[in-house]
Amino acid sequence: MSDSSPLPPLDWPVMQPGWVWLCGAGPGDPGLLTLHALNALRQADVVVYDALVEPAILDWAPGAEHVYAGKRGGKPSARQRDISLQLVDLARNGKRVLRLKGGDPFVFGRGGEEAQTLVQHDIPVRIIPGISAGIGGLAYAGIPVTHRDVNQSVTFVTGHDQSGNTPGSLDWQAISRGSQVIVIYMGMKHIAQITAALLAAGRPADEPVAVVTTATLPTQQVLETTLATCVDDIAEARLEPPAVICVGRSVLMRQTLDWQGQARGEPPRNLDPLGRGRPAESA
Ligand code: SAH
Repeated sequence: MSDSSPLPPLDWPVMQPGWVWLCGAGPGDPGLLTLHALNALRQADVVVYDALVEPAILDWAPGAEHVYAGKRGGKPSARQRDISLQLVDLARNGKRVLRLKGGDPFVFGRGGEEAQTLVQHDIPVRIIPGISAGIGGLAYAGIPVTHRDVNQSVTFVTGHDQSGNTPGSLDWQAISRGSQVIVIYMGMKHIAQITAALLAAGRPADEPVAVVTTATLPTQQVLETTLATCVDDIAEARLEPPAVICVGRSVLMRQTLDWQGQARGEPPRNLDPLGRGRPAESA
């Protein structure tokens, strides 16, 4: 271990040469890393990281080679197959490889594809989950992704398919009917089509929407808007990706639970935004 501060006592897994650990780095705030991720950062020979991995996290692997495998400066992203094969090569060369991805590696992150390629090439893998932006990022905006008075289900959708288009395969009618809360990843590019589809599927024009950009980082911005107004409001606020977009009444809970605002001295705007009275003491 390169760092002297010990991890809490546990039988921590040892990274063996030739292995690839596929690991989530969380949405940004380095404090949201898991201890397994930290254990991996301290042992890796090579860290292959994506655009959404917060750079400060790489400082915790000072002894490792850092290899960038994402989009930069408008260039097309490194081809997915090339990244997977690069991981295979590094492992075959006897490296301890840490593949670090934003959020959770298995949530809209192509981690499943990379792991599949590795296993197909007989490379042993370990999977380390991470906090996904659609859950942890919303929590940093004071939005509980489920709340007993709002939703019994939540749907996570991606605003892009593999070709970069809005997923035509998504049945927006069914999603609208079946899920009180919808969390959209990679939704900024096609937000106009997505909101139009939701409105056409019968979601109310005044349904609350939150757009959370660079969630959990000091630059985090939160826009509270509605389905009917969000396209204009996003443009006016000049919001840029990465953003998670939450559609549903759980967005109202931010009026009570904007804990970051409260830490800055802003009082809660509304202690009962759902109009349900005090929660029951029991059950
Ligand atoms: N595996 C990641 C998602 C990768 S897809 C996860 O589990 O979080 C990339 C998308 O994730 C972005 O377009 C955005 O929608 C979302 N995202 C990731 N990090 C984010 C952040 N810090 N703030 C807001 N959205 C984020």
